[in-house]
Parts: sequence; structure tokens; C-alpha cells
Amino acid sequence: MDSGTPPLKVIIVGGSLAGLMCGVALKHAGHTVTIIERDKNERMSHMAGVCLGLDAERFLERHDRHTKVFSHRSTRVQVLVDDDKVQIYANGRRQITSWDTYYFRLRSLFDGYISSYYPSPPESLDTDGPAKYQYCSEVTHMARSGDKMIVTILNRDTQDVSQEKADLVIGADGPNSFVRSLYLPNVQRQYVGYIAWRGTVPESKVSATTRGIFHRSVTVHRMKQQHCIMYMIPGPNGSLEPGERLLNFLWYTNETPEALDEIMKDGVDGHRHHHIVPAGRVRQDIWQERIEYARSVPFAKPFLEVMLQIEQPFIQVITEFCSPQAAFEDGKVLLMGDALSLFRPHTAFSGTQAAFHTLRVEEYVAGKIPLAEWEEKVLRFSYLHFAQSIWWGKIYQHHISAALLAGLGYWSYCVVDKVKSWWSGEESLLRTTSSVVEEYD
Ligand SMILES: Cc1cc2nc3c(=O)[nH]c(=O)nc-3n(C[C@H](O)[C@H](O)[C@H](O)COP(=O)(O)OP(=O)(O)OC[C@H]3O[C@@H](n4cnc5c(N)ncnc54)[C@H](O)[C@@H]3O)c2cc1C
Repeated sequence: MDSGTPPLKVIIVGGSLAGLMCGVALKHAGHTVTIIERDKNERMSHMAGVCLGLDAERFLERHDRHTKVFSHRSTRVQVLVDDDKVQIYANGRRQITSWDTYYFRLRSLFDGYISSYYPSPPESLDTDGPAKYQYCSEVTHMARSGDKMIVTILNRDTQDVSQEKADLVIGADGPNSFVRSLYLPNVQRQYVGYIAWRGTVPESKVSATTRGIFHRSVTVHRMKQQHCIMYMIPGPNGSLEPGERLLNFLWYTNETPEALDEIMKDGVDGHRHHHIVPAGRVRQDIWQERIEYARSVPFAKPFLEVMLQIEQPFIQVITEFCSPQAAFEDGKVLLMGDALSLFRPHTAFSGTQAAFHTLRVEEYVAGKIPLAEWEEKVLRFSYLHFAQSIWWGKIYQHHISAALLAGLGYWSYCVVDKVKSWWSGEESLLRTTSSVVEEYD
């Protein structure tokens, strides 16, 4: 966009992490930003982790006006090879927070929303633009009129329908994106062949030995074509106090589409969920069967100990896609976050991708990079990390030959990225975790 343009009227569709990050950045740049969110203000967290990678750290350095630490530090990735023996797989710091802690922090930065997580929002600056978070509102239609976009919004409480004009519309409406469906109807979520059994347990509920194994690490437990992961995240109201933090458990198992019909049946009313069976709705008999199976595999003791303490498990079906285009209507409509591409969770990259997109949107809107460069960068970043997440998924869940094939795809994107970044004299877009060795305290 042209630098020196007057403050823009921006509508962001979707008020989760990607929409909020983008909203905060554009508000801080002085634009008038409205976020339209289908859901309520007080959202239901999955109580699972969100990793703050390099781009999230850069976003926070620029835009976070809170100072309190809100993530748990893990210093290595390790593999549990026996009940009590670990092998360090990679040293490197990872800051991990929870979705709700991040959401309420971004809300307090965006529209000063007061929550039990952040009771005192930071003051706005005179240079900030106006920011509005319009919840219980769904975008149901969108069309271009001259140099504006006309957005139709349904109020889900009153059923009133209204229209708003915008200079720029950001589609941050997640994997089932309405905005993407208008321009790329064929890009749909694909089931990758496995699901995750998930849950959290307060660290105070497990033995000191188990806590010691998990408390500063991301720990993997590999079994034949299945694996578990454990790491720590903040507890209630984002607490990082020892004893209040949560151990976050995930177990990935390969399942046929037919098996999913049973697994995804709601434990209360029997309807079939598509992507997530929320906490409190997993069938008791299905969970009990899994526990028996875990005992028979057998799981390493620390993993089994945590699994047995999970009171409210939930199930996530792993799906993916990667869009071939990110900008539409001559740059008046942009896709970002999970609406643009959805990665497998092994690399913990969704939050980082949303931050990368936000920083590039900020540059584009400020006129620092042209539209073509914006799109090339966000697509290259997405392809790279999409391929990277497939590669890891194949290593964990499939035969070595499938992993090698996926590796070839990933490495060829790495070569493209290296050549492009060398040619332009800019940093590579491939992100890996830091290899700084830190004490396991
Ligand atoms: C309630 C919730 C809890 C989550 N918990 C976790 C977690 O614990 N761990 C984790 O790793 N990831 C979690 N995620 C996913 C995580 O937020 C994303 O993977 C990542 O942060 C990037 O998300 P996103 O903002 O691009 O998309 P999403 O997080 O999927 O958000 C998309 C948003 O758009 C809204 N929306 C969709 N269509 C419309 C429409 N037509 N009009 C208006 N609004 C619309 C949705 O309600 C949603 O809030 C959660 C997502 C949500 C919504």
C-alpha cells in the first residue's frame, strides 16, 4: 500500500490469536481497526500450549506493553527411552504459553479488555488508532465496491444484519475460513490419518520424579507409529507459580476414517464432531479403552501417570492445507494465520506463523514492501513450514520411507528459500529453534 496513506479503516474477520496480533499492530500504527468475532468475549480455551517462536518474540518486542512474563521456559527437547531414562534430542529454549493467557493479553492490548488474567490493561497512546472488538458477530458476505470492500455482518444475538465499508479486510478466520472460501473454495482441510488424545493435569497432582522429568523440557515418547508429547504450560489465570502450572499431554494415534465415526461421537448427546471433541464430551468408554491400551503398549511410567490423572480429556483430529494465494482484490483482502495455511502441530508453529504474517502485514500497510513481495514472503514461509510439519508427522507416525519422501519435499523448499534469501540479501525464512544450551534447573 502507498506510504503516507491516511489512517485506513481495517476490518479483521476473526478475533483469535492471528486476528488480535494483526489488530494490535495496525492499531499501534494509527489505523481504525474493527475485529469481527463470531464467538463470545470469554472464550473456551483448549488449555493447551502455544509456542512463542522467533516471530512471536519479535512481535512482542514491538507491540507488547505488558512486562509480566507469560510463558513457561523449556530448555530442551528430549526423548524418554525408558521409565526414567531420557536422551537429549536437542538443546534450545522454547517459551510456551497457553492459548487463553495469550488471548487475554492480546485483548488487553487491543481494546483494553479487563479479564482475570489481565485486570489492568495498559494505557492507549495518542498515536494509537481506535480499536473495537465486535463479538457474537459473524461475517456472512463480502463484496468489492470501487476502492472499498463492503462487509456484511450478522449479529448472532439479535439476528440484525448490518454492512460496513473497509479499505482493507484481513481474513484471520481460522482453518474453516469464510474469507478463503470466497476466493479459494477448493482449498479444504484434509485429514492426515491420525488424531491426538489430549488433556492437562496440574503439576501438583503428579510425583516429584515425574515433575522433574517434564518441568523444563518438551518430552517425546516414541512407540511404533505413534507417539506422545508432554510439556508444561501456565495454569489458571496464566499462573507460572510452581504447583499451579499444567502438564500438557498429547498422544497421537493413527485412525481410519471409520474408527473416527465412533471416537468422535459426543459422550453426552451422541452427535458426530468433525475436528474436536471438547473437554467433557469424550465418551467414557472410549477413554477407558484408551487407558487400557496405553497400559498394554506399554507406556513409559511418567506418561501413564499423567494420563491417568486427566479428568477432562479432549480429542483433536489432525488436518492440514496450504493455500496457493494470500492476496485478493488488488491487496484489499489478505489471508493470514490458520486461514491461510494449517500445519500439523508437531512443530508448534501456528502462533509463530500468525506473528510472521502480522509483521509482514504491518510492513505492507506502511508501504515498506509492495503487495507482490508481501505475498511471496507469506507463501514461502507457509510452504516451508507446512512441508516441515508433514516431514515430522511422517517421522513420528509412518514408515521411514514415507518420512524420507516427505523429507525430500521439505529439503527442496529449504533450497528454494536459501537461494531466494541469498539472492535478495535478506534472512532465510526457515525457522528452527535456538541451540543455546541452558541449565536444566
Ligand atoms: C477458542 C480457541 C482455543 C484454542 N486453543 C488452542 C490451544 O489451546 N492450543 C493451540 O495450539 N491452539 C489453540 N487454538 C488454535 C490457535 O489459536 C491457532 O492455531 C493459532 O493461534 C492461529 O489461529 P488463527 O487466529 O489464525 O485461527 P483460529 O484460532 O482458528 O481463530 C479463528 C477465529 O475466527 C473466528 N471466525 C471464524 N469464521 C468467522 C466469521 N465468518 N466471522 C467472524 N469470526 C469468524 C472463529 O470464531 C475464531 O475465533 C485455539 C483456537 C480457538 C479459536
